[in-house]
Amino acid sequence: MILIVGGAGYIGSHLNKELNRRGYETVVFDNLSHGHIELAKWGTFEPGDLEDIDNLRALFRKYPIEAVMHFAAFAYVGESVDDPQKYYLNNLKNTLNLLQVMLEEGVKYFVFSSTCSTYGDPMEIPITEDHPQKPINPYGKAKLMVEEILKDYSHAYGLRHVSLRYFNAAGADPDAEIGEWHDPETHLLPLIFDVAIGIRNHVKIFGTDYDTPDGTCIRDYIHVTDLAEAHILALDYLKNGGKSDVFNLGNGQGFSVSEVIETARKVTKKDIKAIEWDRRPGDPPVLVGSSKKAEKILKWIPKYKDLSKIIETAWNWHKRLHKI
Ligand code: UDP
Repeated sequence: MILIVGGAGYIGSHLNKELNRRGYETVVFDNLSHGHIELAKWGTFEPGDLEDIDNLRALFRKYPIEAVMHFAAFAYVGESVDDPQKYYLNNLKNTLNLLQVMLEEGVKYFVFSSTCSTYGDPMEIPITEDHPQKPINPYGKAKLMVEEILKDYSHAYGLRHVSLRYFNAAGADPDAEIGEWHDPETHLLPLIFDVAIGIRNHVKIFGTDYDTPDGTCIRDYIHVTDLAEAHILALDYLKNGGKSDVFNLGNGQGFSVSEVIETARKVTKKDIKAIEWDRRPGDPPVLVGSSKKAEKILKWIPKYKDLSKIIETAWNWHKRLHKI
């Protein structure tokens, strides 16, 4: 059985669907602070918080858990700057609780949701796994600290793990059963769709004077179902004796904010109003990852290379979420 911690969230719920589709048994553990019970549609749901270590022990004794995939984390970069303790307590300390119980119970396989935010401001594009890691906010720092702790645990206790550094997760389940659902919403695509369906007046373009071809920030948008697939391949890799390792997960292509808005206009056939705004502090101009290592070692082949296709799946979900 696979334990999906944070399986009622955006990426975890897509992994849960993929695992169940392939016949794995899953337990979703989530405190629903940001997750949604409606997204935990498959496997068994166990409400709970990583803070409560006794409850965690009970969970591990209740189910024959062979591997853990850990998605539960706060993920608002700006908030992590304003309230770092919130991030270190949950994203770091509570993760240590989870690892502690895994070690006690002898569970050996761990797949960790890390992030390209661990790199900080990129010195080279595309970013490879050996790029220096100098995170510039507590969110990225806490993720990096967990990565480092995992290496020590792997060495000392034989905990076998893969850390997956995501670039910009985007899109939704092609059946539109689940998708991106944040409250508050800060991500570009859902905000664009809110304008398309008329619940927001406009989307702000954070910075139009960057050193990029059209002046707006470039990001690497990777489809959430491709991310889910990579987790399953990472688990197979570990089970087949692969050593603990880290992999970038991106699609290797960069799209600017203006390109994303323009493509969304075409896909939605809506006139989406966008206004130029100040830069958002902490945003590097370009973040594009190289996922060659995951392609080579995990044999990961992302299926959604086309931005329109990624946006189309997200749009279908967004309309369903808002009952349009
Ligand atoms: N962005 C924007 N307006 C918004 C939200 C985001 O221009 O209302 C830009 C942001 O500056 C970044 C890109 O869109 O360059 C993606 O941002 P998002 O918050 O979706 O993801 P992040 O890159 O922060 O993980």
